[in-house]
Order: sequence, then C-alpha cells, then structure tokens
Amino acid sequence: MISIKNANNSIKRTVPTLEPEAIAIRSSVGRILAEDIVADMDLPPFDRSMMDGFAVRAADLAGPHSTLKVVGESAAGRGWHHELSRGEAVRIMTGAPVPKGADAVIRVEDTSENDGSVVIGTVVKRGTSIVKRGSEVRSGRVLLSKGDLITPYNIATIAAFGYAELQVYKRPTISVISTGSEIVTIATTPKQDQIRNSNSVMIASMAAALNAKVEIRPHVMDDIANLKRAVGSASERSDMVVLTGGVSVGKYDLTKDAIIGLGGKIIFDKVRLKPGKPTVFAMLGNACVFGLPGNPVSAAVAFRLFVQAAIMRMQGAGSPLGSGGKALTNAELKAPTERDLYQLSRSEIDTKGRLSISPVQTRGSSDLASMRVADCLAVVPRGTRNQPGDIVDILWL
Ligand code: AMP
Ligand code: MG
Repeated sequence: MISIKNANNSIKRTVPTLEPEAIAIRSSVGRILAEDIVADMDLPPFDRSMMDGFAVRAADLAGPHSTLKVVGESAAGRGWHHELSRGEAVRIMTGAPVPKGADAVIRVEDTSENDGSVVIGTVVKRGTSIVKRGSEVRSGRVLLSKGDLITPYNIATIAAFGYAELQVYKRPTISVISTGSEIVTIATTPKQDQIRNSNSVMIASMAAALNAKVEIRPHVMDDIANLKRAVGSASERSDMVVLTGGVSVGKYDLTKDAIIGLGGKIIFDKVRLKPGKPTVFAMLGNACVFGLPGNPVSAAVAFRLFVQAAIMRMQGAGSPLGSGGKALTNAELKAPTERDLYQLSRSEIDTKGRLSISPVQTRGSSDLASMRVADCLAVVPRGTRNQPGDIVDILWL
C-alpha cells in the first residue's frame, strides 16, 4: 500500500505531457498554455483619458472659475496631436489620448462650455483622470506562463497582446469503461440483483470538465476475455483508460488480471486512502490505465485525487492537483490508522465569517446520493483525529 503522496509522485513520473498545438483564442478557455504570454506593447499605449471632459494644464486652474480656450477635440481613435499651450483646453472623450502639454482631465460635469471657451468650476491635481502610458502593463512583461489555465478572466490579457492564435497542450482522449455483471444502462429498469450504471456518466463528466475528449465505451461483464478485449482496444485508441469496478479482492474482480494479461505494467494497486484504497494505476502501451473501485463515492474520490492529476499533467498544467485550502471543521473527523481520510464535506461561511465544513451524512462509500451535496473533501491524515473547531486541509471538488 503506497501513500497518496507517493502515488501522486508516480503519476508525475509516469504520465507524459501531450504535444502542444496551435488553436484559435476563441476556443481556448479551459486549455493549458504551452507558451508564455508576453506583452508586445505598453498598456495603455498612450496617456489615456478616464473621463469625458476637458484635457487641461492643472496649473491653469487658479480658482473656482477658470476660463480656458477650447482649441480642439480628442476622441477615441482620433486624437488631437498638437501641444496644449497655457490657457488652452481640449475637449476629450473616455479612452482618447491626452494631448501633449495637458496633465489633467476635468470631467464634463464640472465644466460649462460656450462659444469656444470652457469655464471650469474646480481645481485638480496633476495626473487627475489620466491613465499614464505603460502604467497598467509594460511592454515585454510575462503576464501568463506556460502551464497556466486559460479562463474567461485572463483571456482578455491574451487577446490584448495579439494572440489570435496560441499554443496550448493537446486534450487527452479518454475511454471510460464500466465493469460488473450486475450493471445495467441508466434507461433500464433493473431486474433482481441489478443496479444502474451511474459511474460511467459520472467519470465521463468529471473528465470532460477537465477538458478531456471522453468516450464512454460499451459496458463489460465480469469476464476476463471480454475485459481484455475491451481494455486492449481502448488503450490503443486513447491516451487514458478509466475503468470502474473489479479492483478489489473478490472472485470476480478481474481488472488487474486483464491489465497484466495484456502485458501492462502495474505502477500501484493499493493506496493509503479512504475511500478508494484498491485504486489501480498502470501503463499499457502508451496509455495510462486507472482501475477505480466500483463504489461510486470511492470512484469519485480516487478520480479527484489521481485521475484528475493525470489528466491535468497530460495537459501540462502547472498545478495538476487542483485547488484546496484550509477550513474549520464543525464535526469530529477521525482517520483510520492505516489510511488518510478524504471525507466528502460541504462548506459554508459560519456566523463569524469563517470558512467551515461539515462532513456529509453518508451510509458509506456506496452511498452515491450523499455526494450530491458535497463541494469539497476534508483531509485527515492517517492515525489522527480532529475535534470540532480544528482547522483541516480541504480540496475543492
Ligand atoms: P466492485 O468494485 O466491482 O466490487 O463494485 C463495488 C460496488 O460498486 C458494487 O456494489 C457494485 O455494484 C457497485 N458498482 C460497480 N460498478 C458500478 C457502476 N458502474 N455504477 C454504479 N455502481 C457500480
Ligand atoms: Mg464488481
């Protein structure tokens, strides 16, 4: 049985990062950058007005009623490219370049214009309502790095510096295979001893949320020949195969036998994790193979810890383990002596404004409905116990 840390280290060592590819910026959200994003110009590229109003020389505004001569107009995209002299003002719009000689912009609300001159009812400091050239971003600065995730919030930065096309890592192709002779399709009404396949769609959705290209392959009964055929062909057509079921020690748990029978190399097959101990990680040809426990909660937790890390590593992510933090626990949490507990939990901000978590009520790792209210995992190291009010590590789901 290996520790979670060592399991993640072997994933790090084993899982290859895919090739970069060039894509259009429009379809880049969710992808991982395979190049640095470097500013090719200053932002703003010129001293820019923050207001509609008048560009002036602050020193010209002596008292509450200064009259200046309006000598021109600077609009966004069509500036006034002369130098402002003493006693002069230029009508200016938001986003327009501030003319040379001007050092402040008076908002239109504080002015009244008539007959070629403007009366200004205020005094201002130099620099008022002007964004200086390069004050936001200096040309040459690295703004995003290789390994960063592209989001709707950082994509404007990528666009502003001319990356109509950019280099990202390829999306891994993933085959999802459910196993188990009791499993029937979602659309079926289960007969005696049967249960519906909730794992495949769950695993496929988790992988798709990480931008993988996912295919749910036909379900496989607990039969070694069929299992080998299914795993073999899936490993040839995809970067990763994720199986559920058949990884424990029962007579019909055949996933590992199938991988070994196909010549695969088992990297680990038991992890100090509750739930999710029998998780298998193997390489078969060029494909990574994960065998997750059939119990839905175990499969979900093992996915979050290991498969997610592998998918993000394939895409070159700088932080493949995803985000976490610390929170106060509202209940006692106790890990077994041999394994770290990753407890499905729900977070909230308590009445004192602190991030706190409560373990979700569960009947065990088969209790899939308990997952529907969870938004994080609380981490309790093996052999330890947390009291209500203690601070624990969490991982966001
Ligand atoms: P196993 O890991 O094959 O021993 O399965 C453990 C438990 O998970 C059993 O109760 C299975 O019925 C259940 N299970 C296995 N596969 C699935 C699946 N695809 N969807 C829902 N439950 C499953
Ligand atoms: Mg089974």
